[in-house]
Amino acid sequence: MELPSTTRFKQCTKCGCTKPATLEFFTANRGIKGGLERRCRAFHRAMQRAYRKNNREKLRKQERRYREENSEAIAEYRRRYREENREKLAEKDRRYREKNREARLEYERRYREENNEAIRTAKRRWYRENREAAQAYKRRYHEENRASVLERVRRWRENNPGRQQVHNRNRKALIRAAEGTPTFEDIGALFDTQTGGVSTATCRLYLASTARYTSTT
Ligand SMILES: [Zn+2]
Repeated sequence: MELPSTTRFKQCTKCGCTKPATLEFFTANRGIKGGLERRCRAFHRAMQRAYRKNNREKLRKQERRYREENSEAIAEYRRRYREENREKLAEKDRRYREKNREARLEYERRYREENNEAIRTAKRRWYRENREAAQAYKRRYHEENRASVLERVRRWRENNPGRQQVHNRNRKALIRAAEGTPTFEDIGALFDTQTGGVSTATCRLYLASTARYTSTT
């Protein structure tokens, strides 16, 4: 670096080095004549590094205590930061997801594969425990997405030739086996218990379209 001839130099009192008397090499200190610290930045950094290295445990404890004593202020600071940087954070999140898309899909696929049974059990249990909310959600979903649901059913039929008949036979057998005069809700519930409430979209639509059973809702 070419320095202007007017550059003043300053000798560091700690390591004895001589460097330009600027903020690049010395920290500011208004209490000292000249406005710069006596020791150079490099020496100060080296000291800090050594101190951190030799006092790791003590510093960890201090840090923990600080977090505990200021947990509310820290939480508030984080909340405000998230609020004020919402767009920036969303963008960062989006970029991260994009960059890790393949790895994530692969991880999710493997996870589903390895936890197939556990996932099904959990879904079933959740559905049993949240039956009303789940049914309300499903009803609303189908009302709002009728066209796309019907389209999915149509595509499924196209891609699974013959499966439709099997499905229909099973459904009719179920209905025949059921005692009394089941309502639309009864049969829906029956399908739900069998599928864990997960893949009943098509069943319900078929039921609705047969119009043999009157919906109680
Ligand atoms: Zn120095």
